[in-house]
Amino acid sequence: MKYAELKTHTLAWQRSLKFAGFYRGQLDGLAGPLTREAATQWEASHSQLQARYGQVDSRSESYLWTLQPLAAMRVRQVIVEMRKQADWKIICGIRTYDEQDALYNKRPRVTRARGGQSMHNFGLAADFCLFEDGKDIWSPSEGPKSIYAPLAEATRQAGLVWGGGFRTIYDPGHIQLGEIATTALHRAYTQGTSTLAELLK
Ligand SMILES: [Zn+2]
Repeated sequence: MKYAELKTHTLAWQRSLKFAGFYRGQLDGLAGPLTREAATQWEASHSQLQARYGQVDSRSESYLWTLQPLAAMRVRQVIVEMRKQADWKIICGIRTYDEQDALYNKRPRVTRARGGQSMHNFGLAADFCLFEDGKDIWSPSEGPKSIYAPLAEATRQAGLVWGGGFRTIYDPGHIQLGEIATTALHRAYTQGTSTLAELLK
């Protein structure tokens, strides 16, 4: 979901703020002064990244701002690089647990991940798509002529993991922060026991 929407889902928003190390309150789904204070820090952090690495199209921005700042820093470098080459946009950032569960229940099956099992659920992954004349180009072709080859390279340079290299599923528009087990992420994210920075240590 986009940034404006995330902020209205108070529990998911608090989890994100806590995981970023900005929120000192309880994960209770009730917005109060501590939530607002943390939100100010989140905004400042993303504003800094925007100023430092460059602003992109509004659609990509609306998803970039849903990511954990530590992930957004690298994903922003990738989208800035990709937009020098063509009309690439980010079309997904965070996916809340509820969104993920709804996706999981879709038939025909589109994902094997339930809420808490995708890197999107923690704001650590983004999906990229190429646009031509305003239309999205989805090409699952592999090999050296793949439209995703430059994305794979930019992702590698930013120190992120490219979904086209996954053993389980070929997901070439997907990029994410390195491999931290989703079980550890799920625990920290939902219980507020550690921040992302602590998990990365
Ligand atoms: Zn994805």
